[in-house]
Amino acid sequence: MRTLDDLEVQGRRVLVRVDFNVPLHDGEVADDTRIRAALPTIEELRERGARIVLASHLGRPKDREPELSLRPVADRLAELSGADVTFAPGVVGDDVRALADNLAPGDILVLENLRYEPGETRNDDRLARALAGLADAYVDDAFGAAHRAHASTEGVTHHLRDRAAGLLLQREVETLTGILSEPARPLVAVVGGAKVTDKLGVLDRFLELADTILVGGAMCFPFLRAQGHEVGDSLCAAEDLEPARRVLEAAREDGRARLELPSDLVLGDRFAAEAEKRALDGVDVPDGWMGLDIGPKTAERYAEVIARAGTVFWNGPMGAFELEPFAAGTRAVAEAVAAAPGTTVVGGGDSAAALEQFGLADRVTHLSTGGGASLELIEGKVLPGVEALA
Ligand code: ADP
Ligand code: MG
Repeated sequence: MRTLDDLEVQGRRVLVRVDFNVPLHDGEVADDTRIRAALPTIEELRERGARIVLASHLGRPKDREPELSLRPVADRLAELSGADVTFAPGVVGDDVRALADNLAPGDILVLENLRYEPGETRNDDRLARALAGLADAYVDDAFGAAHRAHASTEGVTHHLRDRAAGLLLQREVETLTGILSEPARPLVAVVGGAKVTDKLGVLDRFLELADTILVGGAMCFPFLRAQGHEVGDSLCAAEDLEPARRVLEAAREDGRARLELPSDLVLGDRFAAEAEKRALDGVDVPDGWMGLDIGPKTAERYAEVIARAGTVFWNGPMGAFELEPFAAGTRAVAEAVAAAPGTTVVGGGDSAAALEQFGLADRVTHLSTGGGASLELIEGKVLPGVEALA
């Protein structure tokens, strides 16, 4: 993968694909984490005298909905970077081209929402060519979009051969591939959240690579059901049972990771903060109740495994952490990950939100910004946006 060190940028127009897909509230940026995450690349390019054209998608516009304009993002970037920031009222076209041509070294042009152009997600070659026409070199710093072959992540690289990974994308790829190829042992994968089917590829890969897999969240119920336990009203899709059975079977083969499941739970009578709550020492959930968190014994056992790990990868909360009565298991695991002496990597939007909620986001080695992209990388899939930078 080419990096910024491989790129000549002085005085040149550099198209940078960033992930500015931020939450907006009343026309203002509600959380600027992703904008700040792109600053190191932007700052390095400015210091090296590049003329910068930034491109991002925002939300899923069906048309050119003005509520999904990148203008407020450009305003926030101007505050954060102190740079001269111009906003382009479109993605491509003669007017936009003229704005790009007029940039002085260190100046920034922010393009309008890429998805205002229907060709973006279709990887339309005419759009890719027009984007490439705005610049002399291309940098991709949008790890969260790297698993999609879109005009701005893949197509454009066919027309701008001078290309490189930005610092954020580089760190994401190097950290995630690093913990898979030569992890400090033991390698412990903590997998929670919902839907076994979505995370099956990740479980399969960790069965081969990890020493221990700790399962929590709603993920555990198909496994417990497959072992013959009652799950009551817990989240447990019929379609997840067969995959869970298969994973349990595979885990019994030699040389596979040890798969650990909860041994106690916290139950609620419904998915709500006001739900009636009770502890269950065991995993047979009575009818009328649902498992909404791992119990304290399980949390303690998991925390001990995490404390002894050389490397921890965590994706998916241990319970319905958004509901205060059912947050304790996720909090205990988050605290264990934060305190662990080994390398700790966390991926997934809700897992990241949980870390933020507990004030522990800066206590892990790496907090991945790309949920889907990080899972696909772990599954061993080739990410089109990364391959395009080879
Ligand atoms: P991530 O975004 O980190 O990949 P997921 O999206 O897979 O995580 O899962 C997060 C969601 O799973 C949360 O909304 C949480 O409430 C829910 N969840 C976790 N455990 C349970 C459970 N036992 N029952 C119902 N929902 C759960
Ligand atoms: Mg999620």
